[in-house]
Amino acid sequence: MSVAQLPDGHLQELFASFQGEGATVGARTVFVRMAGCALRCRYCDTPKALVRTEFAEFHRPEGIERCRNPCGLAAVAAAVDQLDLQRRCWVSFTGGEPLEQAPFLAALAPLLRPRRLHLETAGVNAPEMALLAAHVDHVAFDLKLDSVAQEGDRTADHRSFLVACRGTERVAKMIVGPTTDVAEVGRLAKLVAEESPSIPLILQPETPRTGGFPELPLALLEACHAAAERHLRDVRVIPQTHKFLRLP
Ligand code: SF4
Repeated sequence: MSVAQLPDGHLQELFASFQGEGATVGARTVFVRMAGCALRCRYCDTPKALVRTEFAEFHRPEGIERCRNPCGLAAVAAAVDQLDLQRRCWVSFTGGEPLEQAPFLAALAPLLRPRRLHLETAGVNAPEMALLAAHVDHVAFDLKLDSVAQEGDRTADHRSFLVACRGTERVAKMIVGPTTDVAEVGRLAKLVAEESPSIPLILQPETPRTGGFPELPLALLEACHAAAERHLRDVRVIPQTHKFLRLP
């Protein structure tokens, strides 16, 4: 690829923190938050990343710098290096929906090694996932419950996605809240089990957008867990820990 063909990326922010959710919770991580997402989940906690903006915020050791979008590969890789000189952190491609910029991330990934690379995605973009699968280690993908996300029935998209991310370490995630339809939890868990019953599933209680603790009755959470466990071997409940710790 010539320099002229190198893809640029639209970022929302780049920062170091601790992974707040999912199977790698607690791991020191540099987050590369991409801008733009075609979905509008009711519980979305990153509204500022739903559309592309003129500037991205890069957290530097000396403070926050506004960088004009689109950002070049070398500039993004150098910003990650600044926050992780030893190259020991995880790097998380998150968003927004990072797969909407899969060519950029596929080109960026080799520049970030030997770090472990994590992708956080809605799990609905199968062709883009197929493009990136060889470049990331760990894929945390959502299973969108229409009863919670109000984004329609995404079953067919998730089925294709599960195939597209074969070869990576896959972890499924469902956001569950007071409106959760337990039968829908069972249906989507069965869909994952048809691909592999050993794919872990994280049930993540919805954090209220107004702050505070998740408002999910224990009986409903237990019913969701039981419905999923009928199909999958490893079903865990993990809330968003970074909200409690007030981390970015
Ligand atoms: S897919 Fe993720 S970023 Fe997009 S609207 Fe849903 S929660 Fe927000």
